[in-house]
Amino acid sequence: MSFSAFLPPRRILMGPGPSDVPPRILEALGRPTIGHLDPRFVDLMDEIKVLLQYAMQTENPLTMPISAPGSAGMEACFVNLVEPGDKVIICQNGVFGGRMQENVERCGGAAVVIQDPWGNAVDPQKLEDTLKAHPDTKVVAFVHAETSTGASSDAKTLVELARRHGCLSIVDAVTSLAGSPLKVDEWEIDAIYSGTQKCLSCVPGISPVSFSERAQQRISNRKHKVQSWFLDMNLIMGYWGQGARRAYHHTAPVNAMYALHEALLIVHEEGLENAWERHQRNHLALKAGLEAMGIRFIVDSAHRLPQLNAVAIPEGVDDADVRRRLLGEHHLEIGAGLGDLAGKVWRIGLMGHSSRIENINHCLQALETVLADVGAPINPGVALSAAQKILAA
Ligand SMILES: *Cc1c(COP(=O)(O)O)cnc(C)c1O
Repeated sequence: MSFSAFLPPRRILMGPGPSDVPPRILEALGRPTIGHLDPRFVDLMDEIKVLLQYAMQTENPLTMPISAPGSAGMEACFVNLVEPGDKVIICQNGVFGGRMQENVERCGGAAVVIQDPWGNAVDPQKLEDTLKAHPDTKVVAFVHAETSTGASSDAKTLVELARRHGCLSIVDAVTSLAGSPLKVDEWEIDAIYSGTQKCLSCVPGISPVSFSERAQQRISNRKHKVQSWFLDMNLIMGYWGQGARRAYHHTAPVNAMYALHEALLIVHEEGLENAWERHQRNHLALKAGLEAMGIRFIVDSAHRLPQLNAVAIPEGVDDADVRRRLLGEHHLEIGAGLGDLAGKVWRIGLMGHSSRIENINHCLQALETVLADVGAPINPGVALSAAQKILAA
């Protein structure tokens, strides 16, 4: 057997994540590794915290990146805030709410699950009714941007309901962070986690989290030890805590932190509001192109995520074959449907650096070429100009 270096093919990433990583971030990743307790690295950690606080719009001192993917951020929120016997309301409207339930049960908590149809936003009325029926609830959890369906939920209202009923809130912001409005302090979110590979356009494998003062108190007053040693915030705080002397907890992925810092710098330079606007404008352009072609969105326009466009696969079209050809012939990755939506939808991501005019044009052109070739019922020749009209407005 012979081995050689792995040279990844060039791809245009327009799926549910990872998104395209800009060269600036890849260059940062390749800088020389230094010790994770080197004073210069400690300075970098402090700056990452401040930039993360900006991106999340919070002044929570307990804001930091967990050295593992978004799923670990999810787990960090649940293992720290849920104790055995605690009742937790989970609002489910897609794949990721299902994982929240799994987390609660593994913490020994009692999950009360509210279901909304896939593709819908979480219904605040159902949450309010459930909170009234279960006054002993400790925590409410939901997904802000459901990547599995492309639906956005009203985080501000859901968090307020939780607070009014004496509950802490856990919010999944993996796909919303830096892509659509998210205001941790203004909305008084208690625990939030995200990921690096969606709208931050950084390499995968890190999970920014933030905990409010109230959440921090709940963690300090726990009766039981957090069952995960690695994700115990009491211990992680000693490593990432500001001002305090850093204690060795684990070795931070040093180079990945250079990349995260660069990604956060890019968000800061563009300005958060500008980034939100760019995602929205580009979504409208892609939407105009797809709809001109005859492709239909599955989520109601009031709850559509700009960074994740879920569309119905045209009648009679072979899902896997089209995606294989997009990848093989056009270097374009789009996402398949998950769970109930498998084989029925495509998920087209416009996240972070992938949310660009070039990508919209490439996607429309590639889809049109492949769909026309397989004889799908689409209107050819109109998508690009429909998208351009939006961008020129
Ligand atoms: C991607 C995603 C996750 C999981 O993140 P990983 O980095 O894949 O572990 C969790 N929640 C949502 C909404 C996501 O889109």
